[in-house]
Amino acid sequence: MLSEFELIRRYFERPARSALLGVGDDAALVKPAPGMVLAVSTDMLLEGRHFSVGAEPRALGHKALAVNLSDMAAMGATPRWATLALALPQPDEPWLAAFTAGLYALAERYEVDLVGGDTTRGTLTIAITILGEVPAGHALLRSGARAEDDIWVSGELGGAALALAHRQGRVKLGQNDAAQAARRLDEPEPRVVLGERLRGIASSAIDISDGFAGDLRHVLERSSVGAQVQYASLPRPAALAALAEPQLEAECVLSGGDDYELLFTAAPDKRAALAVLGAELGIALTRVGTIRAGEALLELLDAAGHVMPQTAGFDHFRA
Ligand code: ADP
Ligand code: MG
Repeated sequence: MLSEFELIRRYFERPARSALLGVGDDAALVKPAPGMVLAVSTDMLLEGRHFSVGAEPRALGHKALAVNLSDMAAMGATPRWATLALALPQPDEPWLAAFTAGLYALAERYEVDLVGGDTTRGTLTIAITILGEVPAGHALLRSGARAEDDIWVSGELGGAALALAHRQGRVKLGQNDAAQAARRLDEPEPRVVLGERLRGIASSAIDISDGFAGDLRHVLERSSVGAQVQYASLPRPAALAALAEPQLEAECVLSGGDDYELLFTAAPDKRAALAVLGAELGIALTRVGTIRAGEALLELLDAAGHVMPQTAGFDHFRA
């Protein structure tokens, strides 16, 4: 059986691209560029909690890093280095080969170095810590939204939740729609470049990991402002709208987690710049509402302008 050290050597020791020292010593050494501050974030994925038992390891490797890259995007930071803490029931080589292939493929695309980690036996658990760089004073904080700012979202909301509903047998999708939704759930594309380009444009940002309504509320609370959002303007997959199940649709769009799109605010004089940016990056950027002075409340309006009843965001200790 593969020893811990052999396993590390075989799957995790690779030449570092930009770290001063990578895997193999007691600690890695990294150096941010002049004028940059480090952005640091950790995300943990547990079997049975964040992914199902027997999940495809290549997609899992991708997703474990993607959710961390998404946090960098939401800060306007450029991801640079990552560490991986991994608990494995046994040193399963085909699993490790596929998992690291998924992880390294995404890391390569964004020039992120895996510089260290820890490996132990246990219930499959994947914890990645990511380090990124952002020019001092230019990080996108949750606390920066101001009254009269526009509220924007990238891409579409609800695709990942739709895939989950399909997998659970709550809805029946056609083959193409099911495959497309499954990609949203299993292999989300972090909005790294968009996050970087939003520096100097967005006043606040967050990534949508727990659902639009809940994540917007985090921004409202941190910024001490309210929001008015037009429900109909929230971008959603055509397959979701085509189901003609308004209850499920609202649930997916408002509370569906795991989409990893960016939710951000920007002053109205940034509309033209955002139109250009969206076109340049080939990412739909949709204006969905307005920040209002006052209490940190989200007011959702239906097509007739009436206030809609609300669903709560995702809470790991409640669900
Ligand atoms: P230590 O005894 O100091 O904890 P280890 O023997 O656990 O060191 O790890 C040896 C080297 O391998 C270290 O540089 C560590 O960062 C790296 N490493 C261990 N596990 C992983 C992993 N899952 N991914 C990346 N690097 C790892
Ligand atoms: Mg160790």
